[in-house]
Amino acid sequence: MTATDRAEGALLGLACGDALGRPVEFRSPRRIEREYGRLDEMVGDGTHRKPPGTITDDTELALRIARSLVEMGAFDGVDIAERFVEWYRSGPFDIGGLTADALRLIDQGHAWDDSGQTCWKARSEGQNAGNGSVMRCAPHALAFDDESALVTASTISSRITHADPRCTYGCAVLNLTIANCLHETERPLATALETVRVDAPDELVGALEPIGAGEEPEPLSNSGYVVHTLQTALYEALTAEEAGEAIVGAVNRGGDADTLGAVAGAVAGARFGASSLPPAWLDAVDEVGELRDLARDLFEGTYAPVSA
Ligand SMILES: [Mg+2]
Repeated sequence: MTATDRAEGALLGLACGDALGRPVEFRSPRRIEREYGRLDEMVGDGTHRKPPGTITDDTELALRIARSLVEMGAFDGVDIAERFVEWYRSGPFDIGGLTADALRLIDQGHAWDDSGQTCWKARSEGQNAGNGSVMRCAPHALAFDDESALVTASTISSRITHADPRCTYGCAVLNLTIANCLHETERPLATALETVRVDAPDELVGALEPIGAGEEPEPLSNSGYVVHTLQTALYEALTAEEAGEAIVGAVNRGGDADTLGAVAGAVAGARFGASSLPPAWLDAVDEVGELRDLARDLFEGTYAPVSA
């Protein structure tokens, strides 16, 4: 397995997890089992009633980050936000609450780098730290070699819609973990946590430390709260023996199944490479060709340091 295969695996794993989970989003694990047994192939209909292999907002937004980085040759928050807003205007069938609120504000003329903060202040605890930025942030991990550049890009990119420190540092920890997988670092999550420990919220670091140490905290949740999503998806991604197994394990937990699949898939894809993903899944997802090209460009190109 080459480093390029692992870079492609990060974006293709994200898309495969998203598409596998799409038909069972919001469903309980019990209902998934009743309808599909163990869901391990791309099926049509289900939640959102789409054809097999249909991606959702998770991959749509990751694609826009990836295209922006490659076309601009740098992190450009204005450009990323514009691409997000253009997508928002197209009326997507799946969109998170905070993302919709923040992109509506930007569409109305609010500053891209303050919209997430404004929406965050307007919400109460329990409603203000969803997984809508961690699900899309993986492309940054392929572009930025330097750890501090990666942390900065990840946090600023999150803040367009998700300004809570659990979300901004959630993106940083996830992307450092993906980058560590790409470079075959031992203990990728534990190492990522060491990098952000001083700045990241204790609640986030404390929740992920056991997973970084190889323990399973009980119970793992399928909710859309960013800390839960990272715990569950990272647990699946870091304990599986292959990428497909990680994604199937995440998706069959139900709840926010597509995003659990996308986050687990990005990490497991970076661990095991695109060549480890089931070929039938890759055939079913229309965006695979473009994602492969973008992954290669991101990983092999040089991207200008972030200027906020
Ligand atoms: Mg989704």
